[in-house]
Amino acid sequence: MSGIVLYEKEGHKVVLFEELTPASAVQANQYLIVHAGEGILLDPGGHKVFSQLKRDVSAHLPPSKIRYIFLSHQDPDVVASINGWLLTTQAEALISKLWVRFLPHFGLDSKLEGRVVPLDDEGGELELGGCRFKILPAHFLHSPGNFQLYDPCSGILFSGDVGASLGQPYFFVENFEEHVKYMEAFHRRYMASRKACRLWVKMVRELKPRVIAPQHGAVFKDEMVERFLDWLEGLECGVDLMTETGFTIS
Ligand code: FE
Repeated sequence: MSGIVLYEKEGHKVVLFEELTPASAVQANQYLIVHAGEGILLDPGGHKVFSQLKRDVSAHLPPSKIRYIFLSHQDPDVVASINGWLLTTQAEALISKLWVRFLPHFGLDSKLEGRVVPLDDEGGELELGGCRFKILPAHFLHSPGNFQLYDPCSGILFSGDVGASLGQPYFFVENFEEHVKYMEAFHRRYMASRKACRLWVKMVRELKPRVIAPQHGAVFKDEMVERFLDWLEGLECGVDLMTETGFTIS
């Protein structure tokens, strides 16, 4: 069966699909949450991933049972296949209200637009079969309209681009110092500012997630979660690095 099962207990299951992206595209993780026979698909990705992801999802849940498609932000590696998913399921797609009018540019059919749910800036809750997921605002990390999903049943925070790593040869972070080199350049360039990172870390510390699962690269578990939060809290990034002459990335 394809996909890495991150959690499975009492009818609640979380699956990571990490190997579907074509070699020339940025590696992207897709996640499926199954609860009480229904599902949430997170950041399903682009057209090249669509058919295989649908087959892989079917091994865990009939795609017709996907109730929500959670879109953390507007990037193509998150959203580009949205027309196919809405056409072949009855799911609703959730995305920041900032991006709703951009979706037709990805080919979203006008007759499907009614199943796009615009999220207000403050986020909120999403209920599936009695499990109440938290929709967390994470604006400017990196997108100006950016949300993450916290699953209280598994303790997994789906963090979108926060915590993303590129090129690491493993699925789970085990040596934090070694891991920094796979995520540092990305965070320094893509995350808007240290202030945004610091506020996010404060919010996440109160949540106490057991796992942080980003949209690219390796997953943080247990003590690696705290190591990552400490690192991100002190990171200078984005506008912090701007000078009169432009960016200083290195
Ligand atoms: Fe992105």
